[in-house]
Formats: sequence, structure tokens, C-alpha cells
Amino acid sequence: MDKQQVLKEYFGYDGFREGQEELMDAVLSSRDVLGIMPTGAGKSLCFQIPALLMEGITLVISPLISLMKDQVEALNQAGVHAAYLNSSLTPGQYRKALGLAAAGRYKLIYVAPERLVTEAFLDFALHASIAMVAVDEAHCVSQWGQDFRPSYLKIVEFVKRLPRRPVLAAFTATATKEVREDVAAILTLRDPLIRITGFDRPNLYFAVQSPKDKYGTLKQYLNLHPGESGIIYCLTRKLEEEVCVRLRSDGISAARYHAGLSDEERRRNQEDFIYDRVSVMVATNAFGMGIDKSNVRYVIHYNMPKNMESYYQEAGRAGRDGEPSDCILLYGGQDVVTNQLFIENNRDNEELGGQELALVQQRDRERLKKMTFYCFTRECLRDYILRYFGEYPASCCKNCGNCLSQFETADVTETAKGIAGCVKTSGQRYGVTVILDTIHGANTAKIRSYRLEQNPFYGCLSKVPIYRLRQVLNHLQLQGYLNVTADAYAVVKLTELSEELIRGEVQVLMKLPREEPEDKKKPEKGGKARRRRQSLAAELHAEAFTEKEEKLFEELRALRMKIAKEEHVPPYVVFSDKTLVHLCIQKPASQEELLEISGIGAFKAKKYGKRFLECMGNQA
Ligand code: ADP
Ligand code: MG
Ligand code: ZN
Repeated sequence: MDKQQVLKEYFGYDGFREGQEELMDAVLSSRDVLGIMPTGAGKSLCFQIPALLMEGITLVISPLISLMKDQVEALNQAGVHAAYLNSSLTPGQYRKALGLAAAGRYKLIYVAPERLVTEAFLDFALHASIAMVAVDEAHCVSQWGQDFRPSYLKIVEFVKRLPRRPVLAAFTATATKEVREDVAAILTLRDPLIRITGFDRPNLYFAVQSPKDKYGTLKQYLNLHPGESGIIYCLTRKLEEEVCVRLRSDGISAARYHAGLSDEERRRNQEDFIYDRVSVMVATNAFGMGIDKSNVRYVIHYNMPKNMESYYQEAGRAGRDGEPSDCILLYGGQDVVTNQLFIENNRDNEELGGQELALVQQRDRERLKKMTFYCFTRECLRDYILRYFGEYPASCCKNCGNCLSQFETADVTETAKGIAGCVKTSGQRYGVTVILDTIHGANTAKIRSYRLEQNPFYGCLSKVPIYRLRQVLNHLQLQGYLNVTADAYAVVKLTELSEELIRGEVQVLMKLPREEPEDKKKPEKGGKARRRRQSLAAELHAEAFTEKEEKLFEELRALRMKIAKEEHVPPYVVFSDKTLVHLCIQKPASQEELLEISGIGAFKAKKYGKRFLECMGNQA
């Protein structure tokens, strides 16, 4: 078999996606690779397919148990023998799995990094023929990355001890240059083929909202998307619990996830979500790495996260199946403060010395600043994200909140002059809140102790609401008229552009959202899911997805759920929604015709074909 045949036979797909083929070819010709592709782009196949084609065993290093389990289940569903070795196995199970591995039962073995240099594992590895070591989530090896895991350093130690050096293949979705260079250097990749694919995820819709009532906004969204799978990220456990409890009392089936829950509860809740037993997951950022659930239709950030890397990774868990999905960030001023506190109190990495720690914090503050700008920009959000990751896209995507909203251009020159003037006359010594309080004319102990009530700009903008002042200040920062230092104090400073502003030589224009008219048409309930099926149907040049097909779709979905339960796997591991839609439209009548459907390989056709064919036959 060649790679094309493996793709079709085991995974049921007809073509490769961007980057996949080149990476596979390099691996197959024994060259190391570094694949940098966004979440959902299809990194797994880049090592899974070569693994099936090469002599010997492929080891896959992966940071999380859930990640391994999910991938191994999916492989076994596709008819590939694979196993995982991690702390979720009992010692007995572990020994048994190692025994089977030594007997050559598995082509792919997923291993937790900390296991690699244990005696039992080495005993196996030194006597096995290991063709490739694939490092998934490879940014975990880098201190620059947002998720450094010291145990990843064991990979190098392990490889060095092998009698024959296997091909090394590293994959990550983190694209910054530092991380990329770190990964290649630390893993000691040899003349690797480095492939960076576009970071754009065109099927994701991005939006930022700053609602007065976050919960109400969230609730409204959920009401419009009943039954769809989605994740709600909160910044703190406390909030996460609050939101989850409220949703439940409002009759929404929600599960929760944070690091403080017992392993058992976390596992159960995660499975409820993955297996579609509950549709909404309310979680902190502890949830998600390794969640390969492909039909997540929305990711809502109840708070602004700490940086763009985290945001894009978390938001990117929506729409892995390539279908339209929403990524919505609900911004609130408090989010900045909470994140700042996290940075100041960050003691995650005890190995860091004082100077290093200061450097890390400095970098974190810079990142937070860029994240805040994202929430305030009026330009295309996708454009902002891609630029952050070093890509230069066309600047209007037509699929983000900013590209699709109507803005009015407002002249904020007077407000801007007031802010800059206050910064100058108070000696560039104060943080954002103090500056805003001063021009707004607040009477606080802090203002009095700094004697700012005597500042010439004190109270000069008392009529402008604080949130607007903050928007303008952020805009000035974005435009380079002011700078906020990236140290713990976040002091507002002047820049070389400030003087022109203060002297009144420039006009500052800013886009503000046009107020929505009250009678704005409410979107149709459940409409998005239906539209998505319509658009899938259109891709197949079908007339439309009729009532009859909707009905069949529901039948097939029920059958999929039934099978998933029998096999103890998530429904999407059986077939994706897309595959079901294809079935509804093409209505295959035989095993051969089944193989024409995207997502159905020979193994699955044999295993499930009969039941699905029957189900469709009954309907016809
Ligand atoms: P990543 O690890 O890059 O985030 P995955 O490997 O989990 O992404 O793949 C995401 C989804 O894309 C999976 O459902 C996978 O089956 C699907 N996929 C990958 N490659 C292809 C392809 N060539 N054609 C169709 N679907 C694909
Ligand atoms: Mg992956
Ligand atoms: Zn846009």
C-alpha cells in the first residue's frame, strides 16, 4: 500500500490537506520533520500514516492521558492496532500492554514522556525495532512555550539510548519563532523538513463583545444553539462554578472541569462531554489540551484569557471538523486585572531564579497587552490573530464580528488630548486606573494621596463614561500615541507621537459600533446547525437538504449514538456529522457505494456498513 491507499482504506479520506503529504514523504524517506499546523489541521495523520507504512514500531509522545486515549480509540476504530502506556493503566495492565508490544502487536504506541526512561519501558524499547518517535504537542519542550513540561526533556535522553536512531517527527500548533527554534534544537532534529501551514481557520467566526450582563448574553447564545456542543471558558474556578450552577438551574445540561476536581470527576465530566451526554462544558483552561472532539460548535470565553497563544488554542477547539463554528470572547475590564494578578503571583515554575522569573513575567505582561488589544481593535479580528502569529493576510475576512458589524467613525480627539495631557502633567508616573480616575474626577484616597485633584486635567472628562475613557486609552495605545509599560506597575507613558496630540495637531478617529436597532431580526433557533447541513449538501452539489433528509439525518444520528454506546467510544469517532450528511445525500445502497463516502474506510464500512445501509433502506 502507499500513503494514498492507507488514507482511503483506514481513514476513508480522498485527499491530503495542506502540508500533510510533504511531511509524510520526508518521514518515509527517513528525514526528521517539524510540522507546525494549527489545531484541527490534521497533524496526527502526518505520523499515523507513515507509521503504518514503515517497518517497525512508532512511538508517539503525548502530554496528556486523555489525548492518548482519544487517539488510540480512533485508531482502533479505524482498524489500526494501537495502544497507550501511561499512569491510567494498572501495573497489571501496563505489563500486559508492554508484553503485547514486545510481541509486535502494535504499529503505534502512545507513551507518556515520564515513562520513557523507566526501566520497564527501556527494557522493551532497547529490544524492539523503533522506526519513528513522533512528538505531539512538541512546544511542551520549550521554556518559551506557554506549556513547558520538563518531562519532555526525557525524550532526548531516551532517543540517545536507543541502539539505532529512529526518525524524529515533531508537531505543534504554536508558531512563534522562539518556540520553533527551541523545539528543533532541544529535540536535536537533524536537518529537519520544517513545514508551517497557514494558521487561518476560515470556518471559525471570531467576535468580541463587552456586554454589561455577561451571563445574560451567554444564556441568549445558548438558547439559540440548543443541543450543540460547546465550551465555555472561565478564568477562575470560582466563576466557572458560578456559571455552571446557574446554567444548570436554568435547565441547560452543563458539565464542569477544573484542576481542583478529583481525577475521577474530571474524567467523568470530560467523558460526558466527549460522548455527547451533555452539550455544554464549563471549564477553566485546565480543560482542553488533547480534546479532539471534532464537533464542538462554539467556544465562548467568559473572560479574556492571558495571551493570544492560549486564546487561539482554546478557541481553535471549535470546528475541528471544518464546519462553521463560533469563537466569541466576552470581555470585561476586570479580566485584565485578574490576569495581571495571575502574572504577579505566578510561581508555576519553581526552577526559575529571580532574574529569569522577572523576564518571564515581563514577557507575560507583553502578551497580556497584545491580548487586550485584540479585545479593543476595530479592525478585522482574524487579521489581528494571523498577524500576531506572523502571517500577513488580506485585511477583511467577512467572517468576524468586526468585518460584519457596522461601525461609526467618531472623533475622540478631545478625550485623547485630555488623557495624554493628564499623563504628561502628572509626570508619566501612574497606571491606567489612576489616570482615568483623575480625568474622570474621582474622589478616592489614592487620588488625594497623590494630590491629583490639583492636576489641571482633573475632572476634565467627568461627563464621559469610564468605559469609554478606557476604550479611548486603549485605542491611543494601539495607535502608538501612548505606551503602557510592561512591568508590574503598568505605567502610562508618552511616546514620540504624544506631543503632536497634546499640541492639537492631529485628529484622532476611532470606530465605535453602531447601536443596533431594537427590532433587529432575531436569528432562528437551531438555524445554524441546519444551515451547516445545507452548506455541506451544497458542496456535494445536492439541490438542498430537504425535510426528508433532515429526518434521515436524525435517524442516522440515533444509530450512531447507539453504536457509540455499545462500543464505549464518542459518537464522532464512529462517523462525523459530515459523513452522516454525505450518507443522507448520496444514499449509498451497497458496501462498494459506502466506500465512496468521505470518512468511510474499508474497515468501518465492513464494521458498520450493514446497519447504516439498513437504516437508510428502511427510510427510503
Ligand atoms: P490536529 O492534531 O492538527 O489538531 P487532528 O489530527 O486531530 O488535528 O485532525 C483534525 C480532524 O481532521 C480529524 O477529525 C481528522 O480525522 C481530520 N483530517 C485530518 N486529515 C484529513 C484529510 N486529509 N481529509 C479529511 N479529514 C482529515
Ligand atoms: Mg493533535
Ligand atoms: Zn474579519
